[in-house]
Amino acid sequence: MKFEDFNFVPSLQEGLDTMGFTKPTPIQQEAIPHILAGKDIIACAQTGTGKTGAYLLPLLHKIEEEDKSVIDTLILSPTRELALQIDQQIMGLAYFTGCTSIAVYGGGDGFSYEQQKRSLTDGVNIIVATPGRLIAHLTSGTIDLKHLKHLVLDEADRMLDMGFYEDIVRIISYLPEKRQNLLFSATMPPKIRSLSKKILVDPVEVSIAISKPSAGILQQAYLAFDEQKLALLTAILSNADYKSVIVFASRKEIVKKLNSTLNRKGIPSEAFHSDLEQGEREDIMMRFKGKKLAVLIGTDVISRGIDVEGISLVVNYDVPPDPEDYIHRIGRTARAETTGTAITFINEKDQQKFGRIEALIGNEVVKMPLPEGFEIGPVYQPSVRPKKTFSPDWKKKKSQPQHKRPPHKKANP
Ligand code: AMP
Repeated sequence: MKFEDFNFVPSLQEGLDTMGFTKPTPIQQEAIPHILAGKDIIACAQTGTGKTGAYLLPLLHKIEEEDKSVIDTLILSPTRELALQIDQQIMGLAYFTGCTSIAVYGGGDGFSYEQQKRSLTDGVNIIVATPGRLIAHLTSGTIDLKHLKHLVLDEADRMLDMGFYEDIVRIISYLPEKRQNLLFSATMPPKIRSLSKKILVDPVEVSIAISKPSAGILQQAYLAFDEQKLALLTAILSNADYKSVIVFASRKEIVKKLNSTLNRKGIPSEAFHSDLEQGEREDIMMRFKGKKLAVLIGTDVISRGIDVEGISLVVNYDVPPDPEDYIHRIGRTARAETTGTAITFINEKDQQKFGRIEALIGNEVVKMPLPEGFEIGPVYQPSVRPKKTFSPDWKKKKSQPQHKRPPHKKANP
């Protein structure tokens, strides 16, 4: 499925193209049609699954087609960090639309409160807020929410854990009764169920099950430039006695190159890829399963299907493009309660991708120092956007005057 299949307004599709998003994630595929149809939803989805886009895209589509002089959508977030992240995604996706947004959160000084107040009275379409600060604006009468059409509770379980239940109920008392409600939560404890009964009307349930990596897997990562990776792989395989190893690489050209280099260095291995005859594949797999071959190198073709007991090490020669592939890849080791190690090489371009993986699995993976004798590797900055996102196309579009509406205006000064 492609984003084009949703028939979003062209200005929103343009934002998606510029962000480089082509395919909806599973939660987006599931949730977007229901939200477009006006249903309330309760969605179980963790950070890293694309949950923010799952509600932002259909809401931006609706706002773009409606009256933009009113506050249309309120998104409640447990923390200022999440509020800022959501606001940044709005900025990217809504860049070519006429929708405006503001992040409203506490913790700043009186000046930022005054700035927020001015922006709110100026007119804005989407408010992304932490509950406490929003209440301060509501009680002082700065915000008029009587035209609000959509309410989103993001990371609802965390908001309840942080004691925001009363605040949420109070905020809802300021909203019109007729509105669309979207509740997103990473977990579904009973208190979320009772909150949803109070707020949602006949909701559709959307849930994307992600199996977390088994606790028996020791996960490690090395920050390495592409030029360092081959020597690093050789060093890792030569210095420890791993009985059964799978090395994943993104393309079969890399698989073939790794295989010939390892063999030249005296580390027997086989490359497993789509150019092999069926008989050759079966032979390699049989030797690998029978522990007569220690190192198997392949693309994601081998990550889902094979069920080999006792794999001691999985190496991701590059970061898999999809966080769920990471879970599938490293799931080849530590099967059935055994233990194993999973090592990932992260170059400077793959850092954001690895950040998404860490968000999905819910913890940081230990970054190992490069072995002695190696030059220093890249610094880990997972939140830095790769330059590719801001393509020349993006810059070109920004200066094109033919858009009917002004490009995305930040309401937050
Ligand atoms: P979230 O789960 O909303 O925190 O999103 C995690 C990351 O995935 C964010 O960096 C988004 O920019 C990115 N993302 C969301 N939807 C897509 C998509 N359809 N394709 C590629 N990346 C996406």
